[in-house]
Amino acid sequence: MEERQWQAIEACDSGSDGEFYYGVRTTGVYCRPSCKSRTPKRENVRVFGTTDEAVNQGFRPCKRCRPEELAWRGAGEEVVALVKGLMQARFAEALSLELLAEEVKMSPHHVHRVFKRETGQTPGEFLLEVRMRAAKELLRTTEWSVTEVAGQVGFVNLSHFSTVFHEQTGQTPTQYRGGAGER
Ligand SMILES: [Zn+2]
Repeated sequence: MEERQWQAIEACDSGSDGEFYYGVRTTGVYCRPSCKSRTPKRENVRVFGTTDEAVNQGFRPCKRCRPEELAWRGAGEEVVALVKGLMQARFAEALSLELLAEEVKMSPHHVHRVFKRETGQTPGEFLLEVRMRAAKELLRTTEWSVTEVAGQVGFVNLSHFSTVFHEQTGQTPTQYRGGAGER
C-alpha cells in the first residue's frame, strides 16, 4: 500500500473512490476509500485495484459503502466531465484511452467503465462523435481539402477518415460538402 492510499483511507477521501479499494483482513470486507466505517488498523489493510481483485482474494463488499455498485455518481460525473472536456479540446490529436486516463490519473479500464456507465457510450464513441461534428463543420465552412479536414480532426489516414465518415453519415466527405453547398 502506498502512503497516499493509506492517507485516503484515513481521511475517507471520496476523491480516491474508484481508484482503488481496500480490504480489511480481520473482517473479510472490502470498501471504497470514502467508506465512513471505522478506520481499520493499517497492518490489516490490503489494497486492490478493482473490485474483482478483492473478490478473487475472498473479500466481500461492504454493506455500508457498497463498493460493488460503484454508486458514487458525483465522482463519476466529474470523471466524465473531465474526460469529455479533454476530448473536446484535443480531438485533433492522436488521443488514446491511455492518454486520457493518465490525464485524470485513473486506470484506462476505470475511465472506460465509468464513462460507459454514466453516458451509455464508450469514450471512443464520444470522441468519434466530436470528430465527426468538427469534420462536418469544416467541410461546410472551409475550402480545406478533405485531407486537411481529416488531419484537423485527428485522423492520420485519409481513407480511414473517409470510411468512418461514410459509416457515420451515409455520405462521403465530398458528397457531404456538395450537399451542404446546395442548401
Ligand atoms: Zn465500506
